[in-house]
Amino acid sequence: MMNQRNQDLSEKLVPWAPAQMTFSDYMSTALPAEKLDRSGPQSFFGLTMLDLEKFIQHHGKEKYRAQQLYKWVYEKKVTDFDLMSNLSKSFRDELKSLFTFELPKVLTHLKSVDGTQKFLFDMGDGQSVEAVLIPSDDRMTLCISSEIGCNMACRFCFTGKQKLKRRLRPEEIVGQFLQSQALLPEGWRITNIVFMGMGEPLDNPESVFKTIEILSNDWGINFSRRKITVSTSGIVPEMWRIAASKTRLAVSLNGYSDESRSKIMPINKRWDLLELLNECRKYNQQTKDLVTFEYVLLKGITDQISHAKELYNITRGIGCKINIIPFNEHPGSEFARPDDVTIAAFQQELMRLGAHVLLRRTMGRDIFAACGQLTSAYKEHPGQMDISNSALGGKHVTDSRRRELGLR
Ligand code: SF4
Repeated sequence: MMNQRNQDLSEKLVPWAPAQMTFSDYMSTALPAEKLDRSGPQSFFGLTMLDLEKFIQHHGKEKYRAQQLYKWVYEKKVTDFDLMSNLSKSFRDELKSLFTFELPKVLTHLKSVDGTQKFLFDMGDGQSVEAVLIPSDDRMTLCISSEIGCNMACRFCFTGKQKLKRRLRPEEIVGQFLQSQALLPEGWRITNIVFMGMGEPLDNPESVFKTIEILSNDWGINFSRRKITVSTSGIVPEMWRIAASKTRLAVSLNGYSDESRSKIMPINKRWDLLELLNECRKYNQQTKDLVTFEYVLLKGITDQISHAKELYNITRGIGCKINIIPFNEHPGSEFARPDDVTIAAFQQELMRLGAHVLLRRTMGRDIFAACGQLTSAYKEHPGQMDISNSALGGKHVTDSRRRELGLR
């Protein structure tokens, strides 16, 4: 039986007329070229093609030079201006004072026995963030961070316990991708990117959507937007950007009613399920794509058969798939993972009702896979991380161990 609140919810979901906004409209409203500090060198990795063209023109050069530079840096992986043979010597000398190519330093690179890899990056100012690489049969997905810490305070999340320190700049997010790709063995390629690491992506929209511009530009990395997923805890007023950027939407749902969701996700008190799910319908209508709902199974809290029924009811009518994720326990957590029988029963109930449902395997438990855990462990014990059953084995990756493993 659908409860009264959820019944109201499904009745109140109003039909939505698809937005007429084109992608170029979106570009001009959402991504104004950043006001560049023209006094010092800029990080090349933080500039979209549009930014770069403006920057180059500001320095009296032709716009097409921006495409040449993107090609050298991202396609040919050349960051030494002296090797850029189709540019004049005087222009090359000028460029040296305009750009830097610094990338976040890799503090730690761990490999789980199940194939998951985790990277910890130094963001300067004593802060670090994580990226996780998750291999599967047909894809290699990189989960990247958008903020250091997070203000959303979801109760089941380790990062949520580490208040927001700062939002990442585009070059720091692009840098996670470039460094992770560079650390993979020859022939391995990241095929999918998910913004599901530390931070709420829509709390840092300018950097996140600039990053997507940079990664997907066809003069550069040319990463398919269709292979990029932006996940949100539900910052409703910013969700339009995901459809406009032609990327995929994932919603961290984790509740089967307003009451259950508000208890574990404070954001639900600001934007409730009615508003959130209505926005998901808009996404469906505008993109014709499915929404992915992430649903964490917490023992005794979100894992009952009645909860599965309610979950089905509130998402019914939305083009979606539901990823159920057994809770990944971490130190100090007030929640527990349900047993396998309960997990299977929950999944089967959703399937019986007709939902498109996937059970996500818990991966990388031996390498602090719960988002934010590695950062915390490194802070507490830098240089002493004993990951005895990871492929790297033993301690924090020292420089000599890094060389031995062929890491940079
Ligand atoms: S689940 Fe995401 S939005 Fe919620 S606290 Fe963690 S990082 Fe932030």
